[in-house]
Amino acid sequence: MAKEKTFICVGCPLGCEVTLTINDKADVVGFAGNKCKEGEKYVLEEYKNPVRTLTATVLTEGSSQPLLAVRTNKPILKTKQVQSMAVIAGTRAKPPLKMGDVIVPNLLDTGADLVASSDLSS
Ligand code: SF4
Repeated sequence: MAKEKTFICVGCPLGCEVTLTINDKADVVGFAGNKCKEGEKYVLEEYKNPVRTLTATVLTEGSSQPLLAVRTNKPILKTKQVQSMAVIAGTRAKPPLKMGDVIVPNLLDTGADLVASSDLSS
C-alpha cells in the first residue's frame, strides 16, 4: 500500500508543501504540490539523505569566555549529528581564534569542518 510523506520545500520563499508518494519498496513514485522541478529535487534529498548545518558550543581553555559558538561550514547528514555532538563535547577551543577558524577539520569524515562562529580571545 502506498504511503505519503509531506515536506515544505525551502527552495524559494513560496514554501510549497510537497507530498511524496512512496510505494511498498520505499521508492518514490509521485510528487504533488510543488510548483517547479526544484521542489522535487529538494524533497527527494530530504527524504533520502536529509542534511543540516550543525550549530553548537564548545568549551574553551585559556579564555575568559567559557564557551565558543561553532557550526559546520556546510550541511552534514542528520544521521551524523548525534555522533558529532559527542566529538564536540570532547573538544576545547583555545585562543586566539578568528571567526571561521577551523576547530575540527573534516568532522567525522563528513567533508565539513567545524568552525568558530565568532572570535575568541584570551
Ligand atoms: S517547489 Fe519550486 S516554487 Fe515551490 S518552494 Fe520549491 S523551489 Fe519554490
